[in-house]
Amino acid sequence: MSHTDYTRNILNIKDRNIYFSENCLEVKKIKGIMTKVFYGVLTYIPTHCDKCGCLNEGHDDIIKWGFKRNCIVKLPKLSGYNTILKLTKQRYYCKHCNDTFIATTSLIDKYKSISRNSELQIKLDLMDKISEKDISKRNNVSHNKVNRIMDEISIKTVLPGTLPTIMNFDEFKATKDTLGKMAFLITNNETGQVFDILESRKYNYLDKYFRRYGKNQRDKVKFIITDMYKPYLKLSKALFKNAEIVIDRFHIVGQAYTALNITRVKLCVKSNPNYNKLKHYWKLILKNENDLNDKKKTYSKHFKKYLTEQEIVTYLINTNPTLKATYNTYQGIINSIRDKDINKFLNIIYKKQDNLSPHMIKALRTYRDFEKYIINSFKYNYNNGVIEGTNNLIKCIKRIAFGYRSFNHFKTRILLIKGIIKIKNVIA
Ligand SMILES: [Zn+2]
Repeated sequence: MSHTDYTRNILNIKDRNIYFSENCLEVKKIKGIMTKVFYGVLTYIPTHCDKCGCLNEGHDDIIKWGFKRNCIVKLPKLSGYNTILKLTKQRYYCKHCNDTFIATTSLIDKYKSISRNSELQIKLDLMDKISEKDISKRNNVSHNKVNRIMDEISIKTVLPGTLPTIMNFDEFKATKDTLGKMAFLITNNETGQVFDILESRKYNYLDKYFRRYGKNQRDKVKFIITDMYKPYLKLSKALFKNAEIVIDRFHIVGQAYTALNITRVKLCVKSNPNYNKLKHYWKLILKNENDLNDKKKTYSKHFKKYLTEQEIVTYLINTNPTLKATYNTYQGIINSIRDKDINKFLNIIYKKQDNLSPHMIKALRTYRDFEKYIINSFKYNYNNGVIEGTNNLIKCIKRIAFGYRSFNHFKTRILLIKGIIKIKNVIA
């Protein structure tokens, strides 16, 4: 193997016009960092003039005209070392236009100082759950450079073709530069894949977005699974006339869960003699009563005696009539959902009850407003479970990035890590 073959192989350079000699490697400090510096020469016989386009058939057309020396190309790290290539590029002179031009290589795009290999490495790194700061460090480029690569990806990203026939709607807290506070997530229920991420969940924005898909396509949508947010309902009715709207089961539970929890929290005031107990046993109060242990007694330092979970809960809810009524309603709701018993659910939300906390009264009113679509969630087995993984991922990306300022970058990153945007694994 020649030095050239050997070095090209190590550096993963496919361009056969780059040559290396015996002493092509030097290890030295650059800006205080030990760096592997490779020296190479780029030369070939050009097929035509880069300036005027005339064909090169011999010495009467184009001749070699010295070199442009030490053009720096950033390469991916080698064994943890920053690695650069100082490339000496052949210059040519064209006798037809009396102009000169410089040899080009597939290793690097024109006007860039970072090799395609490095760029690819950065793109691949962007698919991992690591911060952009770490990616820039890992690849020996500035944070700005990583941002520019993200810009390029996000501009080139054209999402999606046909609307899924079963869609999940959900939202998450957006970035600072977006139109609305909440961003909007559309998931294909059948594949579990993200369909699109929009920077607002506001009615007019979504209306405009979905209208880009023709009526024909929108009419094919069969199910929309969503939470109890009125604009989604209005939108679904206006644009998807054949779609059944299904309220996500987790959101139905969520309303009652939050109502009971706030009711408990309001009782957690220092003047309440049961303050510590109400505060400590919050999980037990929210647990399904059928899952409470009624056999095993454990020592409670708050009660100063041995008790079962059930005894603790029974004691706590009997300390306050509002808590008791709200607790019973909550248990009724979650068990009617667990048992898929729609009649039980409807009985609870329409029954006149004393002592309910205002939060539970409000939750029941919301249930009544969405009754028709809640019934669908008892009827059909669709829920937003498919979204959960994506939501966790979104939180995770936000955390590692310490908050995104640009929505487009945030979106690009989600799509990259989810594997929706695919980076073609091509090496220059
Ligand atoms: Zn020319």
